[in-house]
Amino acid sequence: DTTSGPRLKIAMQKSGRLSDDTLSLLQASGVRFNLQSAKLIAHAEGWPIDLLRVRDDDIPGLVMDGVVDLGIVGENVLEEVRLERLQTGSPADYQALRSLDFGHCRLSIATRLEEHGSAALEGRRIATTYPYLLRDWLRREGLNASPVVLTGSVEVAPRAGLADAICDLVSTGATLEANGLREQQVIFRSQAQLIGRPGDLSQGQQATLDRILRRLDGVQQARESKYIMLHAPKERLEEVTALLPADHPTVLPLGHTDTEVAVHAVSTENLFWETMEQLRELGCSSILVLPIEKML
Ligand code: ATP
Ligand code: MG
Repeated sequence: DTTSGPRLKIAMQKSGRLSDDTLSLLQASGVRFNLQSAKLIAHAEGWPIDLLRVRDDDIPGLVMDGVVDLGIVGENVLEEVRLERLQTGSPADYQALRSLDFGHCRLSIATRLEEHGSAALEGRRIATTYPYLLRDWLRREGLNASPVVLTGSVEVAPRAGLADAICDLVSTGATLEANGLREQQVIFRSQAQLIGRPGDLSQGQQATLDRILRRLDGVQQARESKYIMLHAPKERLEEVTALLPADHPTVLPLGHTDTEVAVHAVSTENLFWETMEQLRELGCSSILVLPIEKML
């Protein structure tokens, strides 16, 4: 029975930039939840897994305190909470299990357009939601500047006269530009991480985790791979397979002709238009590049 014994608790962001990608990754791995928006906890269908949906800021602490077994959270929040806990003497250990390749962003310092360089920050006030990451960077740079902690509207602080610069998450830079700020320096790059705690699981929980990790790897691998099918002239077969970004193409006879064969291959990367055009020039036809849904 897969649903008895201690259950594996996973914390994820309830609603925000990580929620959709987190749910679709779990779903692609075959872990489905019947989500009711008001409920904090959801049970997986057919797996001994419970999903806790919380503010992203709470996820690292829930893992580090052993309240949940796994968490999916941005590295920016993870590192901010870890630094804060180290200073306040709370448990700050975790195990990074997988980088999940979504939620990409960077934490940057931005100032008014006229100023440049980190030296310009000396003695200034910097508004941020990430005081620990900022202080850590200032210390490493040997700069004296004062973080001003704001939990929202950080980007308007300079215009409002609350600070001289900001340290905030950037993905496109449009928000900065709209507020007359220019990105000066990236201090931290982030993506979503699956985290756990080392050696704290029962045998059954560990087995569930191993199974999920294998499936996550399969999903990741499948997302990066393509299935390629084409018809190739028999006498150019060697040149054709040399062009394919794949190790062991399958070559099959075609019913209607002796001069052509079908070539099927799993490629570890996408097939570029240029390569497809070269294949056509070699006499290939019916060239198809298909997404792969699952891989094991
Ligand atoms: P919560 O209510 O859970 O505290 P929040 O407002 O703090 O939500 P979001 O804005 O939803 O957080 O961002 C969550 C995380 O998504 C960020 O901490 C970061 O890791 C990542 N993130 C931030 N900006 C982007 C972006 N533009 N694109 C993708 N991911 C981002
Ligand atoms: Mg948050």
